[in-house]
Amino acid sequence: MGIPVFPPRFDSDLLKPFYDGLAQGELRLSACSECGKFHWYPPEVLPCHPEAELVWKPVSTEGVVYTFTTIERSLLPGDHRDEVPFTVVLVASKDTPHLRVPGLFISDDGSEPQCDMSVRLRPVQIGDYWLPAFEPIAA
Ligand SMILES: [Zn+2]
Repeated sequence: MGIPVFPPRFDSDLLKPFYDGLAQGELRLSACSECGKFHWYPPEVLPCHPEAELVWKPVSTEGVVYTFTTIERSLLPGDHRDEVPFTVVLVASKDTPHLRVPGLFISDDGSEPQCDMSVRLRPVQIGDYWLPAFEPIAA
């Protein structure tokens, strides 16, 4: 399995706290400053309290795989042939089972992801930035 080396898109600072959290080994998700409800993907306007602010809070780095897919061919510009295949999972943290956070799937023993598999965050550093990645928790 490969690791995609393209940098995260920083079209705005919206996701900066998420990536800053990864560098600290934390899974930080956006929440409403008024009611505390977590939201993912972070909305520009909160549907629960439109006047409230978006705040970022760490949640459990352990969760379960909701679904996954393996990318066999990169559609990114440039030559990324050495980076495929890689597998992307959507993970529901223990603290936010209603949200699905994307990340790479990595395993040291070559195991394949499965739905409902227990995983933990293991961010991967690529140059100056960190990507969300999850590894299986041994049963
Ligand atoms: Zn709210």
